[in-house]
Amino acid sequence: MTIRDIMKYIESEFYVINDTPCEVCGGEYAAEDVNIDIIDGVPYDVCDCICSSCGHEKTFEFCAPFIAEDGLKKVKNILN
Ligand SMILES: [Zn+2]
Repeated sequence: MTIRDIMKYIESEFYVINDTPCEVCGGEYAAEDVNIDIIDGVPYDVCDCICSSCGHEKTFEFCAPFIAEDGLKKVKNILN
């Protein structure tokens, strides 16, 4: 997995977030913060989002098993 592949993966997550309407008002979510969390030994890309219309908060979690193979550091370097 190259940095480019990882970036593509993260980009696709943002598409999912953009395609998900706010469950309260139907508005658009904007990503506030992206973190890598290990849940039950599996790395997850955890994205805190907030509705740009009503401020409703939602956390998106994306399973990211490749991060374990290729090292958390790489991804953290991209995100920071
Ligand atoms: Zn909303």
